[in-house]
Amino acid sequence: MRKFNFCAGPAALPEPVLRQAQEELLDWAGLGCSVMEVSHRSPEFVAVAERAERDLRDLLSIPANYRVLFVSGGATGQFSAIPWNLFGAGDKVADYIHTGQWAKKAIGEARRYGQVNVVASSEDRNFTYAPGPDSWQQSDNAAYFHYTPNETIGGVEFGYVPEVSCPLVADMSSTILSQPIPVEKYGVIYAGAQKNIGPSGITVVIVRDDLLDRALPEIPRSLNWKVAADAGSMDNTPPTFAWYLAGLVFQWLKAQGGVEAMAELSLRKSQLLYDFIDRSGFYSSPVERGSRSRMNVPFVLANDSLDKQFLRESEAAGLLNLKGHRSVGGMRASLYNAVPLEAVEALVAFMADFEKRNG
Ligand SMILES: *Cc1c(COP(=O)(O)O)cnc(C)c1O
Repeated sequence: MRKFNFCAGPAALPEPVLRQAQEELLDWAGLGCSVMEVSHRSPEFVAVAERAERDLRDLLSIPANYRVLFVSGGATGQFSAIPWNLFGAGDKVADYIHTGQWAKKAIGEARRYGQVNVVASSEDRNFTYAPGPDSWQQSDNAAYFHYTPNETIGGVEFGYVPEVSCPLVADMSSTILSQPIPVEKYGVIYAGAQKNIGPSGITVVIVRDDLLDRALPEIPRSLNWKVAADAGSMDNTPPTFAWYLAGLVFQWLKAQGGVEAMAELSLRKSQLLYDFIDRSGFYSSPVERGSRSRMNVPFVLANDSLDKQFLRESEAAGLLNLKGHRSVGGMRASLYNAVPLEAVEALVAFMADFEKRNG
């Protein structure tokens, strides 16, 4: 039996997608072998790759002057790729917002290649909010401005798109495809797949085409967006199975009503859980109200000596992977697109019962 999976990543995949992959695993596209066993340059696979890009463009209304890349190396690879690709045309200076662990890693990589100005940080209150734009000191010579719209570990989400005077770069790993986004406001959007796109192993980069000629000359070939763009993301062998599965997820998303439907559903799911937590005297959310993530909901129990019991009993009730990140403790429920409303209803019912027995 499939259980409800709240894993932060690699995360739940839509069941119909898994079923289709299972059904055609041994004999795909009438070829008598699996999709993993054919050339990435075969017409059958190229059709999969092209359709995945088309569907992603439809879902996010990506303008024609943006290129869509499917690369390896995760979002972490892009932490390095961003300075390599954007520091070649002027001063090696970039603005970053520091909102928690992922922002910190991104900043750490950029610092190896240039100067980072941290224009705002939420470290003063333990990364429990998204800083507003009032206090920013933007650099006048920044090559780009980087932020993390959804901090997966802290459960902090920006409710607005920063207005900046240089290319805006966003790590959307844990929020992409959960709502419509104004792509034209961004220079670069990137996301590791294993939260809202597909299995781990593939990374989506959406880059405005005028940003493809700013790379440092020493850039490693495998990180070079222009090389990937010119080669249709096939300069080397791409992760074909992950690309195929991502394509199935895009088709599933379209059938669900696209990102508008996901936006509505993500609000319903997260509000159900936050409302329950706020009404309870037993559970609490460490995140400030205006910055609470629709995708990752951290919460703590009134008494952390009950954490182990909570995890044991929730797992026995078919509610998987609720343990908070090792750096934060407590619990975290990740509510990505493939997590149905019924999962959150079951979680809230379990939490109410656990409180009644132990509160
Ligand atoms: C998961 C995650 C990452 C790391 O992704 P990898 O694919 O493991 O490199 C980076 N940023 C955010 C916001 C994430 O949620």
